[in-house]
Amino acid sequence: MSDTGNAPATPPLDRLIAGYHRFRETGWNPHRERWSTLREGQQPEVMVIACSDSRVDPSQIFDVDPGEIFVVRNVAALVPPFETTPGHHGVSAALEFAVQVLKVREIIVMGHGMCGGCKAALTQELYGAEPGQGGFVANWISLLDDARDEVAHKHGTEGRPAERAMEQAGVKVSLENLRSFPCVAQKEAKGSLKLRGAFFAISDGLLHLLDEATGEFAPVE
Ligand SMILES: [Zn+2]
Repeated sequence: MSDTGNAPATPPLDRLIAGYHRFRETGWNPHRERWSTLREGQQPEVMVIACSDSRVDPSQIFDVDPGEIFVVRNVAALVPPFETTPGHHGVSAALEFAVQVLKVREIIVMGHGMCGGCKAALTQELYGAEPGQGGFVANWISLLDDARDEVAHKHGTEGRPAERAMEQAGVKVSLENLRSFPCVAQKEAKGSLKLRGAFFAISDGLLHLLDEATGEFAPVE
């Protein structure tokens, strides 16, 4: 859908309201029973950590119904390490809730192609920026600094091979950081929680899964 010529563009909220009406028609009314069950509470078995990027919506990619996946999205699909320093640990709070209260059985970290956050980590173009001028992003993606140095050493800091290596290394960093949370490590050791790395390639719409034994991502069969 695109606006052509000099016609005034439809205001974004109007497009969203039109979508809401479609949802009421097809997503709500025919599924009232399901929604009334969901009113009692949620029991998702999977937590997905994904990027905020508008092109990689986990509910769409996995074609799931409401109540099926518990999702956290942020710049570059990152999980910070377990930290007890003062601060507002949003990802850690969601993780704690998913693991301890919802008792999800799997956590999927899904990186993606053409990730702006990963690219900025690679080029360090926001390095030194003031908060509100790129500084918040710079600080957030500094979680990737160690991995970035390895990628830059191997592939340089420009071009798709380097960017994809950074995007996939980011998934591994998040998995490693997930395991720094005692509740995650304990449940994984017991076998009641599985961690998975995934990568969605926007250009061809293919989902790749990480084989942690080899460190390689391969397209899902
Ligand atoms: Zn991204």
